[in-house]
Amino acid sequence: MTFCTTINCIDGRVQLPVVQFLQKRFNALYVDSITEPGPVKLLATEQEGRAVASIFARVEVSLQHHDSVGIAIVAHHDCAGNPLPQAEQLLQLERAVTLTRDLWPRATIIGLWVDEQWQVSEVF
Ligand SMILES: [Zn+2]
Repeated sequence: MTFCTTINCIDGRVQLPVVQFLQKRFNALYVDSITEPGPVKLLATEQEGRAVASIFARVEVSLQHHDSVGIAIVAHHDCAGNPLPQAEQLLQLERAVTLTRDLWPRATIIGLWVDEQWQVSEVF
């Protein structure tokens, strides 16, 4: 049983595309999902806040108990929780990936963008 982990938006439109992408990307059957509305906004701008502490506590459970082989942070088109243009969301995503890599330097951590066709791209 191989697990990976996603820090994803709550948006129902991105769940299946992200899970299917990550099953292939990490050759993992199971994707542990941590969801918040617009998580890259939280990770990029509220790094000392309780919501971010909660996200990272959940990542730690996935790493410790499921030996997760990789972590993907997700931003997407038309995000209700983070209604910014793509370029600004990508800056937040890059910051979020950098922060998370600082916390778990040995983990494989990637950043995903989900576009208006609900296609997933690995951008960081
Ligand atoms: Zn969203």
